[in-house]
Amino acid sequence: VKYVYSFGQKTDGDATMRNLLGGKGANLAEMANIGLPVPPGFTITTEVCTYFYDNGRTYPESLQAQMEAAIEKMEKEMGTKFGATSGMPLLVAVRSGARDSMPGMMDTILNLGLNEASVEALTKATDNPRFAWDCYRRFIQMYGDVVLGVQAGPDEDVEPFEGVIHAFKHETYGKDIIDSELTAEDQMELVSRFKALVKDRTGQGFPEDPWDQLRGAAGAVFGSWMNDRAIVYRQKYGIPAEWGTAVNVQAMVFGNTGATSGSGVAFTRNPANGENEFYGEFLVNAQGEDVVAGVRTPEPVAKLEEVMPKSFKELLKVRKKLEKHFKDVQDVEFTIQEGKLYMLQTRNGKRTAAAALKISIDMVKERLINWETAVLRNPADQLDQLLAPIFDLAEVKKAKVLSVGLPAGPGAAAGKIYFNAERAVDAEARGEKVLLTRVETSPEDLRGMIAAEGILTARGGVSSHAALVARQMGKVCVCGAGELQIDYDKKTLTVGKNVFKEGDYLSIDGTTGEVYAGEIKAAPSEIIDGLINNKKAAQKTEKYQNYIKLMEWCAKATRLQVRTNADTPEQTKNAIAFGAEGIGLTRTEHMFFEGDRIDAMREMILADSLEGRQKALKKLLPYQRKDFAGIFRALKGLPATIRLLDPPLHEFLPHTKEQQMDLARTLDIKVEKIMQRVADLHEFNPMLGFRGCRLAICYPEIAEMQARAIFEAAAQCEKKGIPAKPEVMIPLVGFKKELDIQTEIVHRVAKEVQEAKGVEISYTVGTMIEVPRGALTADEIAETAEFFSFGTNDLTQTTMGMSRDDAGSFLGKYKEVEILPYNPFASIDQTGVGQLVETAIAKGRGTRPGMKLGICGEHGGDPASVKFCHNAGLTYVSCSPYRVPVARLSAAQAAI
Ligand code: PEP
Ligand code: MG
Repeated sequence: VKYVYSFGQKTDGDATMRNLLGGKGANLAEMANIGLPVPPGFTITTEVCTYFYDNGRTYPESLQAQMEAAIEKMEKEMGTKFGATSGMPLLVAVRSGARDSMPGMMDTILNLGLNEASVEALTKATDNPRFAWDCYRRFIQMYGDVVLGVQAGPDEDVEPFEGVIHAFKHETYGKDIIDSELTAEDQMELVSRFKALVKDRTGQGFPEDPWDQLRGAAGAVFGSWMNDRAIVYRQKYGIPAEWGTAVNVQAMVFGNTGATSGSGVAFTRNPANGENEFYGEFLVNAQGEDVVAGVRTPEPVAKLEEVMPKSFKELLKVRKKLEKHFKDVQDVEFTIQEGKLYMLQTRNGKRTAAAALKISIDMVKERLINWETAVLRNPADQLDQLLAPIFDLAEVKKAKVLSVGLPAGPGAAAGKIYFNAERAVDAEARGEKVLLTRVETSPEDLRGMIAAEGILTARGGVSSHAALVARQMGKVCVCGAGELQIDYDKKTLTVGKNVFKEGDYLSIDGTTGEVYAGEIKAAPSEIIDGLINNKKAAQKTEKYQNYIKLMEWCAKATRLQVRTNADTPEQTKNAIAFGAEGIGLTRTEHMFFEGDRIDAMREMILADSLEGRQKALKKLLPYQRKDFAGIFRALKGLPATIRLLDPPLHEFLPHTKEQQMDLARTLDIKVEKIMQRVADLHEFNPMLGFRGCRLAICYPEIAEMQARAIFEAAAQCEKKGIPAKPEVMIPLVGFKKELDIQTEIVHRVAKEVQEAKGVEISYTVGTMIEVPRGALTADEIAETAEFFSFGTNDLTQTTMGMSRDDAGSFLGKYKEVEILPYNPFASIDQTGVGQLVETAIAKGRGTRPGMKLGICGEHGGDPASVKFCHNAGLTYVSCSPYRVPVARLSAAQAAI
């Protein structure tokens, strides 16, 4: 079996081999294939990672021989020797590389191959002892930490190697100096102290044999696949543990040999706003890790033109070539060693939703990609970033700017500041809005970043960990706000004379980089505002134009329609502005809670007789009629699926003694009566109880009143020339007979109203499929039902036997142990619940070919579920108004 793939002058792999070589390895091979300057190296495949875990952390037999052959090739190409005692030694970088990049989540080791003898050889060959010993010192530090586990214990504040450096500097210089001021002798001394530290902590000497070092490093990289932060990351992004990581071993080139060397990271376009500009940063005389670590603040890459014009020119050529070849924005790492440019990595650049939109549209204009690809380049689950709120301009004018950092993740966020991840997580769990505020963030802060509304750092550039991760999560982020003085011990943040304590409010604008004191109210995004309010103004902005273009393309590709769940004319209007093609669900009960309608509703529930109920229902009728008329008007002829009353009646009654006394006074009845009725209606499992169509089976007058309100409203509108298309929907049906009884009422009332008003109304009657029996007997139900709408909230609840209201108490654990990799109430369980949906579709359409089928559970706005619905052959999905754009994009992507 081939476990090792070389790249360089002779390259074994290519970009299509991501699964085997990981993203980094596959792209290194591809860059070498297209003639870019890549230092030679090899990739150990992800299969070795799988082997490693399946076989008690050991390696396949033939791996060593394959690695030796690959190292030999590198030696030839570089003119160096691994572990050389004379001449130039070959030093290597060892890096992880999973199929999907997981920035900063796994370990890296640089300068591997150095030992007592080869460091002397390196000194001689480069005539640069300071450089050689700096490399050796860095190597021991990284290797000691990552491979040998010499790390801070629970009650140590400082990382042990850093502690040694700190002590040395104070002993020798009486103060902190920067690392590059350390002399060769200093580095030598540090090397010997580091080795003593390793011996002290591990009981073993530091490995001298480069091959021991290499095997150890590869093991550590494979091992890091299972470290805590990698696991958290995979859970968040749904990356399966079986994928494993590859290991890349690459010849070191040095950005730290002096003033004609340097390292940098860059994006071929701006990943924050999508501008077509070369965007990134570099440091002179530094290794790559220095740039991303956020320790020294790097220079913008454009500055390279002044310092190293030749390399800059070459880099611009590489930029062009990469985009032309990969047809997407690339995120690259490069090193310049004594004027010579090397490319160390390329990958598709992570970008904000705003950047994704602009880049996708621009690339179509530039004929790099076609419009279908452009649609696919906009991640549906990121689209709400574009629609996310921005600060109210009037409020911003009044607010005090504390500092301006780098705009690293767009959007507006206000929250209470917390200085460490754990406390941020706790605060979020208490229901607070949190701004995670750090000097700089590291991968350890991941949990805190997930919990936060926004992330604010005092140090670090646009490619720092905080910025990268925030962009990917769609979090608002400002980084490198240099004026902020953060004191972790005192839990304070000081800016000039202002001191903020943990829990105080700040607001950050990740689009401008501004940091404000206090809490600023947010306003709708430009796109939302343009769609709903100020179309004229918005049309002038590129962002809005691009969004409209994207939605046009979506419309061109889509088969699945998108409707909305809306209960008011206002919601309906918004949803239509976002592109909804009708209402998929109006929950009529929401209307009963407005104003004093609830009194009439309660009167109805408390009535002892049919007459009493009818009297109360009569009061409700005009309200409902008005609501429905408003909705029909907002719909302008688009269809409206209106569902008859669904929740258990107890939900409408007051439960505290005080409220009950109030109600008794209002209705002029005895409070005991109310208490008795509440007790009567009490159920242990109200979600499985007296609700849905069961209500109107027992109290048909409710269905009758609602049907009358619907048809009278429709008649009213039709008379005014506004077409109305009601689709009356019966909830929670499990038996055909349930539906028959209610359909009969609806048809009778429709007939009465049409005759009385002298208008014809085109309407249909259908049902929700939301209990397993309904799905299983869908062929029978479809004899009566003219349409189905899948209520996947209840269908999930009843199929899984998990309460939709409080499954949260164990779903976290289920995710952790991978029983359920996601929340089934957010994203549909395709294998279980999905099977019932598919069964019902087949049975329903078996009885009634071409039957209209939709979904109105929360899943209708979830990209993965929308894709499922498309494939299952549904007619439409219905979701909340603000999810409509997400659903439209998902529907288009499913069709492409
Ligand atoms: C459902 O059950 O999926 C549904 C849409 O109805 P509700 O959420 O109102 O129960
Ligand atoms: Mg339901």
